Amino acid sequence: MKIGFIGLGIMGKPMAKNLLKAGHELVVYDIVAAPVEELVKAGAKAGTSPKDVAGQCEVLITMLPNSPEVKEVVLGKNGVIEGAKPGLIVVDMSSIAPLASQEMAAELAKKKVEMLDAPVSGGEPKAIDATLAVMVGGKAEVFEKVKPILLKMGASAVLCGGIGSGNVTKLANQIIVALNIAAMSEALVLAAKAGVDPGKVFDAIKGGLAGSAVLNAKAPMVCKGNFKPGFRMELHIKDLQNALDTAHAIGVPVPLTGTVMEIMQALKVDGKQKDDHCGVIQFYEKLAGQVVRSDL
Ligand code: NAD
Repeated sequence: MKIGFIGLGIMGKPMAKNLLKAGHELVVYDIVAAPVEELVKAGAKAGTSPKDVAGQCEVLITMLPNSPEVKEVVLGKNGVIEGAKPGLIVVDMSSIAPLASQEMAAELAKKKVEMLDAPVSGGEPKAIDATLAVMVGGKAEVFEKVKPILLKMGASAVLCGGIGSGNVTKLANQIIVALNIAAMSEALVLAAKAGVDPGKVFDAIKGGLAGSAVLNAKAPMVCKGNFKPGFRMELHIKDLQNALDTAHAIGVPVPLTGTVMEIMQALKVDGKQKDDHCGVIQFYEKLAGQVVRSDL
């Protein structure tokens, strides 16, 4: 099956490479030339615009930063909608506002184009290993058609409900991840200032109830002072903003999400928004006057 792939950043590039490895014909596009050239070297064809890519494929995947970029690529000038043939399936794997997914699906439906929202969790390492968790919204019969493709990039793909449900699930995921990072940061700064090696704390608790995928991924990074992204804090700020907007629109107070959002906003003022989201610990380190480091 010929697949289009638009958005070859930290996540999109390894995901597209995994589709090539699985034997799919791929047409790719990004506004940045370097990752396109890399994919072409690996066997993909370069498209000249989202419209051009859409005209050449049966399934088109987007992996872009946020709602405005996805809307521009899908509905804008020279966008997917201009090149799409009836029957095309658009799978947006970016993390965006659920309402934006619903708006785009409605516009595409007028052209007999189907759409799924299918954001992912797992970050760059799982994008490389093809072990992402994919959370999907849309029609069951469309999901069944593309599930084998999703499973070339992920270890699991779960249909959560109608269009927009994938992104609602992703917002829930991002709330849980952000709050876990903040809890880990608070705890490790406390341990370090109390004179206990934070690496030993991680080692001792990771198998107990406080253990988590977040702790396993992020504690070793913060103990080395390694804030290279991974997942940029500015993208997590975007997700928490989408979570706050969605929650407030339907009458759900989310007090802890609001608090972590303000911690990330403070770090942004300090110029740390390009750091990995585990850089949240720097907020706590500054408050306590205690840096967390360990040889592990
Ligand atoms: P990124 O910024 O590294 O990549 C985005 C890519 O989109 C870039 O290559 C950029 O050039 C391209 N792009 C932007 N506007 C474009 C346009 N108009 N036309 C074509 N290409 C365009 O971001 P990322 O880290 O790969 O994240 C992508 C999405 O996945 C985001 O929604 C993010 O929240 C989500 N996500 C990221 C991670 C992670 O760990 N990085 C994990 C899960 C989900």
